[in-house]
Formats: sequence, structure tokens, C-alpha cells
Amino acid sequence: MLNVYDIAFNSRIYGPDLRTVIWFQGCSIHCKGCINQHLWSFDCKEYNTINSLVDKIPNNDVTLLGGEPLDQRHILEFLKELKIRKIGVILFTGYSLSELQGSKLECTRLCDVVISEPFEIDKLNPKLYLRGSDNQIITFNSDRYNPRDFEQHESIEVIIGNQVEIHGRNNEEFLWKLLDEKVI
Ligand code: SF4
Repeated sequence: MLNVYDIAFNSRIYGPDLRTVIWFQGCSIHCKGCINQHLWSFDCKEYNTINSLVDKIPNNDVTLLGGEPLDQRHILEFLKELKIRKIGVILFTGYSLSELQGSKLECTRLCDVVISEPFEIDKLNPKLYLRGSDNQIITFNSDRYNPRDFEQHESIEVIIGNQVEIHGRNNEEFLWKLLDEKVI
């Protein structure tokens, strides 16, 4: 089972293109200054089987965050199923990549991009794209995504309706593209 706090469809703020974003419930890392402390508890929010969660993902890639995705007991099987279905994955984890072993390490290797390391409030950097503190690193395990899409952008935030948000992109062309797609 996978304990899911929330799912956002058609998000653009957690990686390139329209993505499905899944927040898992539960985190054992407890970084000082974490803004998602409501996701630390492992109490059941919504249990999903591996297949039922995969079936909720429309035809796009996913970003997994939390909470701590790697603390989910069945996350490895879930990632293997995403791989079989050729769904691209960006994983956020508060674990240090260099210290991971066993199944958690195996999980990271199944992901196209891993954004790792615990949030360190003393190294807070609001200008970073997709990261909160300077110690956090982006690792590319495949060529599915262009590293340039993960470079720092000037920070803006646009919230559209309940679902689509844009953060960290100050790109007029990009906004016009959204208008063309009638996302805005
Ligand atoms: S790993 Fe993420 S969710 Fe967990 S305490 Fe750190 S910042 Fe918060």
C-alpha cells in the first residue's frame, strides 16, 4: 500500500511539462524548518494499491514528493511499475544520495531525475529552482529530460484555479504557450 496525501494533475511547477504530482504521507527525516510538517505523520491519509495509484496517472510523467517517498514501504514496486509503463519520474527525497543503500538506492536508480539531500534551513536559498537549500542536488539518471529545464529561473509564482501553478519561471514565451494550450 502507498499512503497518499494528495495528487495534482496538470501541474507545471515540479519539473518540465504538464505532470502528475503525488505527495506521499509520512516522513522520518524531520528536517529543521520543513514547511510540510503536516506530512510527517505516517497515519493513514489515503491508502492506494500500487496498481490503483498507477491507474490514476493520466498520460503524462510524474513527480513524487512528500513527506518522504522513499519511506513508503512499497515504493520500489510502484517505481518498477512506472518503469514498465514508461512513465518518466522526478523524485524528491530528503535522504542523502551518497548514504543510500539497498532498496532505497535501487529506487533512486529507477528515477530519471532525483532531487536529493535534506533541507537545511541555514542554507535556505529561495532563488533555487526545485530546491529549497543550497546543499540539495539534482542527479540525472537518464537523458529523458534536458538539464537546462532544471536550471535556475527567476522566481515568479502564478496560481491558476485550483490545480495549475507556475513557480520559478519568468519566461514570457512559456506563458504564451500556456495561453495557446488554453491552460490559463
Ligand atoms: S525530507 Fe522533505 S518532508 Fe521530510 S522533513 Fe525534510 S523537507 Fe520535510
